Amino acid sequence: MTFYDIELIKRNNPIQDVVAAHGVVLQRSGSHLSGRCPFHGDEHPSLVVYPETRSFYCFGCGASGDVIDFVRRAEGLGFREALERLGNGRAPEGPSPQSRDGLSLDDRMILTAASAVYHEVLLHTPAALKYLDDRGISMSVVNRCRLGYSDGRSLRQYLQRRRLSLRRAAQMGLLWRDGGETMAGRVVVPELRGDQCIWLIGRALDDGHQPVYRGLSLPKPVLGYERVRGRPRVFVTEGTFDYLTGAGWSLPICALLGTHVKAERLAFLQRARRVLIVFDADEPGRKAAGELAERLGPRARLVELPEGVKDLNDLGRLPEGRATFFKLVKRAESDALETEEERDATGTR
Ligand SMILES: [Zn+2]
Repeated sequence: MTFYDIELIKRNNPIQDVVAAHGVVLQRSGSHLSGRCPFHGDEHPSLVVYPETRSFYCFGCGASGDVIDFVRRAEGLGFREALERLGNGRAPEGPSPQSRDGLSLDDRMILTAASAVYHEVLLHTPAALKYLDDRGISMSVVNRCRLGYSDGRSLRQYLQRRRLSLRRAAQMGLLWRDGGETMAGRVVVPELRGDQCIWLIGRALDDGHQPVYRGLSLPKPVLGYERVRGRPRVFVTEGTFDYLTGAGWSLPICALLGTHVKAERLAFLQRARRVLIVFDADEPGRKAAGELAERLGPRARLVELPEGVKDLNDLGRLPEGRATFFKLVKRAESDALETEEERDATGTR
């Protein structure tokens, strides 16, 4: 039987760091810190973290306990699983272990802090909220996808306060060498795995601000991976806002963030029996969609956008956009069915 040194686990995992690593922005007030509770729809900072007693308490929903209770609740783990997660009481040795995406725990902590800070800033930046509203992105998507905005200063201040590595933040592409924020003036869309952020991309509010999109200097993931992983029916789009539009419709949807896709990046589609491709209605988009369909074989279907609509986000902004989209999907799937039936009938298969 494994022996767990619970006191050592608590000492090695300061509760304020663990809470922050789960996407909660903590503000210090006196001897404690407070932030928005992840366990209920918290509009105000009801969660209070007490570093001295290594405990937390939510004045909104009553959730409380120590760092182990927090991890159990936040990640849906059992007691032993939570202890394992927190390192089994072993003192941390050497560099922190890397996960499959090549990020260390510290990297994830920095990225998760960034997505949480950007999210808080967005909620207080009317111009950025208006931009999202104009693009048809609802507040529900803003909250569920933890969308954010960089005001060019809050992230750096937060990283300094939490003593997270500015150097590493710069290496990952969050800060310039002079310390300025690379995402300044951009709406930020994070790629989340569970509660944690592993990558993000920023869209300039102003089209004159080049490049219009800026990603981190880390390998580009599939945006929305957790929405589509293991799903039998998957929608694949090109761009960030196409993905957000589909997320607003609760679709199992992801964005490849470009049209040039290497075969190994498509491994996540292995188990999908139906892949609906919704690329841009321009020449490169049509060409790439055709090539992707060819690679995926008979389970692929191309969804043709209506005349004059350039991409899925564009369609989503039309008054009847959503209804139109589902009609087009139905057509894409039924056309395919008919041709299969025809082939069956004529015995050419
Ligand atoms: Zn709560």
